[in-house]
Amino acid sequence: LSGKLNQVFKKLKSHGKLTESDVKEAMREVRMALLEADVSYKVVKDFVKKVSERAVGEEVLSSLTPAQQVIKIVNEELCNLMGNENARIQFPSKPPCVIMMCGLQGSGKTTHSAKLAKMLKKEGHYPLLVACDIYRPAAINQLQVVGERAGVKVFEMGQIDPRIIAKEALRFAKDHGNDVVILDTAGRLHIDTELMDELKDLKELTNPNEIMLVVDAMTGQDAVNVAKAFDDALGIDSVLMSKLDSDTRGGAALSVLAVTGKPIKYVGMGEKLDEFEQFHPQRMASRILGMGDMLTLIEKAENTISQKDAEKMAKKLEENRFDMDDLLEQLRQIQKMGSLKSIIGMLPGVGSKLKDADIDDRQFVRIEAMITSMTKAERAKPSIINPSRKRRIAAGSGTKVEDVNRLLKQFDQMQKMMKQLGGKAGKGGKMNRRA
Ligand code: GDP
Ligand code: MG
Repeated sequence: LSGKLNQVFKKLKSHGKLTESDVKEAMREVRMALLEADVSYKVVKDFVKKVSERAVGEEVLSSLTPAQQVIKIVNEELCNLMGNENARIQFPSKPPCVIMMCGLQGSGKTTHSAKLAKMLKKEGHYPLLVACDIYRPAAINQLQVVGERAGVKVFEMGQIDPRIIAKEALRFAKDHGNDVVILDTAGRLHIDTELMDELKDLKELTNPNEIMLVVDAMTGQDAVNVAKAFDDALGIDSVLMSKLDSDTRGGAALSVLAVTGKPIKYVGMGEKLDEFEQFHPQRMASRILGMGDMLTLIEKAENTISQKDAEKMAKKLEENRFDMDDLLEQLRQIQKMGSLKSIIGMLPGVGSKLKDADIDDRQFVRIEAMITSMTKAERAKPSIINPSRKRRIAAGSGTKVEDVNRLLKQFDQMQKMMKQLGGKAGKGGKMNRRA
């Protein structure tokens, strides 16, 4: 228990500014998280440098530890790197809006052409899907299947020159009032000139409003290389990152904007047509950091432990006036944040290990019961609790005398620990303020 409370006290003592060593320590973890998420070494290096410079000297919110404060800054900067939330498809004043989907084979073009069509249909558009991948009969079939699922018309002319298909499709769209035309183009295993020439021709012919590159999140850093190559050869407008339902953390998302200058607009999270959404830099940032719901935890801590409460507690600590009532209040604060297991589960690196761990929230309940069974005098000065008082408290709280003994012992240890901390804070000046 004292370990857990230690965390809370750390929090309470976290006034002041971030020091270089606070930042260094937290950034060690961030660096690892980013590298694990498949962010390129160079990007990580630059990022860490930039964030460190910004973080040193920043004010620490009273309810956060310095490490959490650094993570908060890291999160903000990650979001900045990935661009804004509202990157959407721009519709021309004169329809149809032509969207050209391109990418390597298997990246998810066909699936996402249909997902996009379904979403746009829901938004009130009248899309047309066009089968421009003519190299395998199965590809046309596949588009027809997903098109039907999406409830969207599929235009196809079999295995003829895709340039002709595209031109005819545009004519068809005009005749039938389709305001969006989505071209499902062919891909290759690797980028080659033949593919690029075909795509360039399609671009020339259809003058697309949006060339959207589909990249497979599972290919890691390669996704960024592919984006760069397509942008250099063809010029793209945006990126759609598919297969984010996989294990990958999607660190490539971090570099796409930096390397190509083109935003990620959508993400695919599964084979089903609804598993598709707009890109949210915020969500991506927490995924890449892999800090479970560390950020949620930070938010919760910010909300739950108010500045004023924290200051009151800090003062008590410094003056050694922390008693059982304060302990009770702290326990209730912690409980407000959720079950202990869920709180600990949100800490980085802990989540998965915790699955089978036996963490007993009833511990809290028992302690609460014991403290509430104490008289006011006992709470203020636990040293007066003699054996007969212990028996009364145990009986009153439905616990055993051993439990009461354990609590008293822990409280005693805690007070000793706090005396040390408080003493340091009292005379130690700046350096020890965040012990
Ligand atoms: P294309 O060759 O670029 O047209 O790629 P497809 O759309 O045919 O997709 C290739 C494979 O990846 C298919 O088996 C799809 O079902 C699958 N797929 C596409 N997008 C996703 C996704 O977001 N998540 C998952 N798990 N699978 C996907
Ligand atoms: Mg395809």
